[in-house]
Amino acid sequence: MRTEFRNESFVNFKDDRNNAEFDRVLEQTEAGLGKEYPLIIGGERILTEIKAASINPANKAQVVGVVSQADVQYAEQAIQAAAAAFETWKRTDPNERARYLFRAAAVLRRRRHEFSALMTFEAGKTRVEADVETAEAIDFLEFYGREMQRLSQPQPLTVSQEEENELYYLPLGVGVIIPPWNFPLAIMAGMTMAAVVAGNTVVLKPASPTPVIAAKFMALLDEVGLPAGVVNFVPGPGGEVGDYLVDHPLTRFVSFTGSRDVGLRINERAAKTQPGQKWIKRVVAEMGGKDAIIVDQDADLDLAVDAVTLSAFGFSGQKCSACSRVIVHEKVYDTVLERVVERASRLTIGAPSAAGTDVGPVIDEKAYLKIQEYIEIGKQEGRLVLGGGTGDPNGFFIEPTIFADVDPNARISREEIFGPVVAFTKAQSFDEALAFANNTDYGLTGAVISRSGANLEKARREFFVGNLYFNRKCTGALVGTHPFGGFNMSGTDSKAGGRDYLLLFTQAKLVAERF
Ligand code: NAP
Repeated sequence: MRTEFRNESFVNFKDDRNNAEFDRVLEQTEAGLGKEYPLIIGGERILTEIKAASINPANKAQVVGVVSQADVQYAEQAIQAAAAAFETWKRTDPNERARYLFRAAAVLRRRRHEFSALMTFEAGKTRVEADVETAEAIDFLEFYGREMQRLSQPQPLTVSQEEENELYYLPLGVGVIIPPWNFPLAIMAGMTMAAVVAGNTVVLKPASPTPVIAAKFMALLDEVGLPAGVVNFVPGPGGEVGDYLVDHPLTRFVSFTGSRDVGLRINERAAKTQPGQKWIKRVVAEMGGKDAIIVDQDADLDLAVDAVTLSAFGFSGQKCSACSRVIVHEKVYDTVLERVVERASRLTIGAPSAAGTDVGPVIDEKAYLKIQEYIEIGKQEGRLVLGGGTGDPNGFFIEPTIFADVDPNARISREEIFGPVVAFTKAQSFDEALAFANNTDYGLTGAVISRSGANLEKARREFFVGNLYFNRKCTGALVGTHPFGGFNMSGTDSKAGGRDYLLLFTQAKLVAERF
């Protein structure tokens, strides 16, 4: 029996020896950049004619890898390969399936810096953010492996005197896995391996900005002996292969994490029954956020300033859980604003590979331009008190940016920007702050910094988000500890990293027998 699940600890980068070791792996990783990566279908590696270069967002001239691109023919082959592999994988002992995850976790733990270093090059993560993500990927593997073991045990049912009753969790079939680029290892691996450990086979279409990390994870699955065809790897443009995979009649479920527009499109398309389709497709769609931190009048202001700064500017605000609105009680508004501006102005922007960097680049040109458009909108809607500019033009750098005195109905208060931009809004009372916080279509994360038990109780009841945090930051959910997912347009509230998650990839069968 395995030990109880525990979260992986993070590497301490205040220790110079850890930095030196990470620098050594960074150097090695950099020397190996620029390789070619194939599609992997039914275990076969396929180099295609059309390829796309994945580039370093901190240094546009640096090619991280050159990746073969799937088209609809390859998407079709991948679905067929997954359907063929399902026939044996679904009958594979759940403990055996779980062991592949435990082996993958062990290898990832041993080669932790390699994966983190690659993320600094391909996703622009600082070493601290990258390391936390690799730890999260290990956690997902360890957690979901154990979860499948739990679900394959006899399930509690009301005891009948006349019958023997058993409930089994069966897999669904072929799944399409569509992850985002912002957690290119942890979310990608978590979504893929949750479906796989439950007995499904999948077609994995990685996000276009970060396919090389996914390719490295595919190599790891090969190394631990995962049978061919269980995970089929088809990088390619979402708009082209995505629709085909979602629409396919053999697709049994789609597990998506990404933007609201794409999530809603997938949900609509998956709802249409195709000729030959025998089931209602299941859609798990985790989408965007417009997350707020409320700072109450009696709040511990040191804590508030730290929580806001880390939640808003960690990984340049490119987390679905990032704080993009700060709603402050009028009695402490000026102080909190001034102190967050001061604290954020001390953040170091630069190459994510450098040890002291706090804020790296944003992911690509599309994001870079979109965020700047929102900064222009913000200048009309609020008072720019920090940042607003760009950094080193060799990469997609945007300064941590703060707008003050923003109306809760302004666009920058309601639309997801997904960059290092935060809007401050003044509230006259705690009730008004709560109303402002709930004033969006989203409902992913939120935080309240307060010493008032009554106000915290009120927020516990009324702050309508899937992950609510008191007296701490609103980012940094831990597997098993903070199951993650949001309300309303933030998605289907799948609670990734929680005990309900694997159920989304199974169907329960009840057998009653009278002797
Ligand atoms: P995105 O643009 O929606 O892309 C997500 C994935 O969907 C990518 O793999 C993309 O492929 C693919 N895709 C695009 N068009 C598609 C289509 N028509 N059919 C099927 N797939 C398609 O989102 P993103 O920019 O990668 O990620 C950022 C978003 O993710 C933000 O909104 C963020 O809040 C959200 N997010 C949510 C969570 C959560 O747990 N709620 C976690 C992380 C991120 P291409 O890359 O090839 O276009």
